[in-house]
Amino acid sequence: MVELRGVHKSFGPLHVLRGVDLTVEQGQVTVILGPSGSGKSTLLRTINHLEKVDRGSVRVGGRLLGYRQVGDRLHELSEREILRQRTQIGFVFQSFNLFPHLTVRQNLTEAPLSAQRRPRAEAEALAARLLERVGLADKADAYPRTLSGGQQQRVAIARALALEPALVLFDEPTSALDPELVGEVLEVMKDLARSGTTMIVVTHEIGFAREVADTVVFMDAGLVVESGPPAQVLDDPRHERTRAFIGKVL
Ligand code: ATP
Ligand code: MG
Repeated sequence: MVELRGVHKSFGPLHVLRGVDLTVEQGQVTVILGPSGSGKSTLLRTINHLEKVDRGSVRVGGRLLGYRQVGDRLHELSEREILRQRTQIGFVFQSFNLFPHLTVRQNLTEAPLSAQRRPRAEAEALAARLLERVGLADKADAYPRTLSGGQQQRVAIARALALEPALVLFDEPTSALDPELVGEVLEVMKDLARSGTTMIVVTHEIGFAREVADTVVFMDAGLVVESGPPAQVLDDPRHERTRAFIGKVL
């Protein structure tokens, strides 16, 4: 479903991704752990083409992101085509990023209406189903600022699902929340995982990783140091750097 091969990314002199390989199978949940600055957000952003890679390849659903292959030559996609590719991939940010001037319902229908040109009735019916799913059916007409952080993040998740993406990326979705609001967001994410959504989640929630992840990936200094089933990476890490990091976050 997702395949990164030898991905490099620099910002000026800063070599942030140093040859990342990562494979995520359809329907699986991958949790990425790693110290601050190790390149986790940058990695997620390359999968959504919010960052262009310098070297290596990113494939989603077998298709190369950002390029079209004609024979053995690669042609860069136009901005429009990139936007279309991006709609297959949901992204949930740490800071919710809801449209403040739109109601909850409008936040959910905006992209289906404008990017997918779906009929309004259909977009609104989908929005209603998704709000039901995240437990916010009664908030359709509310504005984001009137919601708690946990509710805003559940709206953001519903919004990411409104384009019926093949893959959903989460970048520390609970780290801006008050501790008592973390659980409700993790519950929604667990529900998604159980229903077979392909997910890549950057988080420090080790309990979530243990319970939900099929694969845990530990990154450090722009490289995947190790990856494997949660029990192996969390309880019996092969590398000293993984051991040291897990010792600190547990
Ligand atoms: P955290 O856990 O703190 O979120 P992270 O693992 O997500 O860290 P990244 O955000 O990917 O780390 O950043 C990796 C490095 O790249 C950092 O040193 C960061 O300052 C740098 N960086 C990220 N984005 C940019 C950018 N657009 N321009 C310049 N430097 C950047
Ligand atoms: Mg980050």
